[in-house]
This record gives sequence, structure tokens and C-alpha cells, in this order.
Amino acid sequence: MRERSVKNNYKADFPLLKNSDLIYLDSAATSQKPQCVIDAVTNYYQSQNANVHRALYGLGEATTAKYEQARKHVADFINANQDEVIFTKGTTQGLNWVANGFAQSILKPGDEILISIEEHHSNLVPWQIIAKKTGAKLVYVYLTPNLEFDYDDYEAKLNSKTKIVALHHMSNVLGNILDLSKIAKLAHSFGAYLVVDGAQAAAHTEIDVQKFDCDFYAFSGHKMLGPMGIGVLFGKKNLLNQMTPVEYGGEMISEVSQQSVSFKSAPLKFEAGTQNVAGAIGLDTAINYLKQVGISNVKALDYELCKYARSRLEEIGGVSIYGEANNGIISFNLDGIHPHDVVSFLDVDKLCLRAGHHCAEPLMNYLKIPACLRASFYIYNDFSDIDTLVKSLSKIKEFFG
Ligand code: PLP
Repeated sequence: MRERSVKNNYKADFPLLKNSDLIYLDSAATSQKPQCVIDAVTNYYQSQNANVHRALYGLGEATTAKYEQARKHVADFINANQDEVIFTKGTTQGLNWVANGFAQSILKPGDEILISIEEHHSNLVPWQIIAKKTGAKLVYVYLTPNLEFDYDDYEAKLNSKTKIVALHHMSNVLGNILDLSKIAKLAHSFGAYLVVDGAQAAAHTEIDVQKFDCDFYAFSGHKMLGPMGIGVLFGKKNLLNQMTPVEYGGEMISEVSQQSVSFKSAPLKFEAGTQNVAGAIGLDTAINYLKQVGISNVKALDYELCKYARSRLEEIGGVSIYGEANNGIISFNLDGIHPHDVVSFLDVDKLCLRAGHHCAEPLMNYLKIPACLRASFYIYNDFSDIDTLVKSLSKIKEFFG
């Protein structure tokens, strides 16, 4: 086994992995959680639990302060203002809110929504539905022959009818990371708004919403070492003022009478009902942990693991690898063997990988494959995990002849 040049001992921080023989290569679905995040959530329920923005006693006020501190830390993490950060359940909810609370009110029949063929269903179906409701048209950007986002096709498809550009920051299948600054500049030159699905990117690359100049950016805590059920939607302040909530009730309300209601200003106007306070505190802890690791270190680890995996997979022969990015995700197939059969065999060797369409069916059709395998790496993985994967895949190939 080769030694990695970027050293890490992060696995020791992850209780599910450190004393186990499981090899977890499915971090694009959800990351494992470090002990500090588990402790933060447990500690919240053990010693801080109270509802936020309503309790006037000490415990409640302290919890509200913690919740708002988490919002401040998220804002710093993505270079936004605190009042531009809305807590959500996750990326899917954030994108649906933008589609229903913002885009629906600006779209007219004949307008265009530009997305790419690589989108996860969470950044595709909300736009399909809004297109049907408003009479707008859904237009797709396709890929270059080496399976990268085709910037020329993007530019060619932008026009004065384009009102929304909704794109991933990092693909959950091909691992490509897009140049959002370039994309935003072009979108804005046609008067279109840029909505970004940051579900994969948040764990693997810097987010700087001011540098990108994106209008909305959604991501999920659980893919970046945080708890499930907490996510973030960033929106530029003037656009959040324009956007209407999709859910009503609870502390988002300013005043209500029998026949009328007024709402608080953003971000609270979007946070209807009791919030996932433990989730926000857990996410805050995850961000702090990630900052200590350093995103540049994450990127170096991703690159090393992907390069190594790529070369080892190629050694097996009869392996089709999709795309050339080295950002922590490699999708591939063993030629002639269905990926569902492969993962069942891999499971016997305690390898956790995802097989399927990865919530990107139009992409699978575009690649002319029914499904594929995906190995997704994170800071707790090592070369030895890839060696075990390759050994197991070789056995499977031999078995199927
Ligand atoms: N977008 C991408 C690119 C994803 O990979 C995922 C999840 O796999 C999502 C959106 C949806 O994220 P969530 O299920 O956390 O809402």
C-alpha cells in the first residue's frame, strides 16, 4: 500500500469508522459525523434544550443566542451577511423555496429557466414544476466530450428570455466544480438570476457568495459533517425581501388579526414553526471542525484519493470511468455487470458504495447508461480503502467471467 503525501488522522475523530472494519465510500450521499458534532447535538438536548425566539427566561434566551451564533458562523463560512442566511431542512427545501417563493412570481409564459443535464433531481424537478405552472420553458446546457459543463453551450443558450439559471456548484455524479463567478457574470448580463445547488460543493470547496455573485445558494449540513435535517439557504438581501415564504406560522409572524397578518423580515420570515435548533448548533460545530481541517487540505486529500483511485481502477481493465474531475467523487461501471449486482458483492467485503441513477436520471440517459457505481471520498478515507475496493472489484469481475 502506498503512503499518502497529505497526512491525516481524521478517521480517529469519527466513532462510526474508527473501531470498525467498514469502508465508507458514500460520503456524497451523507458524510460521517465527527465526535464533536455528535457531542454538540447530545449536549444541546442534555443541557440547552428550549425553544428559540419566544422564551423570555434565561435558558431560552441562551439557546436563542446559540442559534443566532450558529447563523453568524454560517454567514462567515460563506462570506454572507447574517440576515441573508436562512436555516432550512436541507438543499432540496432551499431550492424548492426559491422556485416557489421567488421564481414563480417573476416567470411569465415564454420565459426560460436554464439548468444543466447534470442536475440532481432536487435542482431539476422544482424547476420542471414551476415551468409547468408559469408557462416558462426549461432549457438544458449539455456537456463537452470529456463530460465537463459546456460553457460555450451555456453562453449560446442564454438570451433575454432567460430569467433563472439554476446550476449545481459540484456535480454529485461527475464531481465537476463549476466556475460560478463566470456563470453569474454571464447570467446577470442577460438580467437572469443565478440559483446554486451547493449540496456537494459545501464539503469540498470554498463558498464565497460575494465572490461568486450568485443570487441564491443552497446546501445541506449532513453532507459536510453536520447533522441531518439542517441546511442553509443564502439569498441576497434585496431578493429575500422580495421572496415570499412558502410556509406560515410560528415566530415568522410579526402581527396577526382575524383577517390579516404581517411577517418579520428575512431571515425569520422564512423560518416557520419550531426550528431544528440542535441541527443548527451541530452544523456550527461541523463548520468549526472543517475550518480546523482547512478546505485547502480537504481539496488536496480529494485530489490524491481520486488520482489514486483512477489509476487503480484503470489497472483492473474493463472499467468505464465517467468524467475526469478529481474532487472526491468517481463514478464508474464494470463493463457488462449491473452496478446493483456489484454493490451487493462489495457489501460482503464491508464496502459501502452507492449504485443507481444517483437522482440524476436525465444524466444517466445522456450518458446512455441505466445506472453507475459511485465511490465518494472524504477526509477519513485512505489509499488502503481504495486498495480494498479494487481487490473486491477484481474478484467480482472474475466471478462474472
Ligand atoms: N443536489 C445535489 C447535487 C445532491 O447531491 C443532493 C443530495 O444528494 C441534493 C441536491 C439534495 O440534498 P438533500 O437531500 O440534502 O436535500
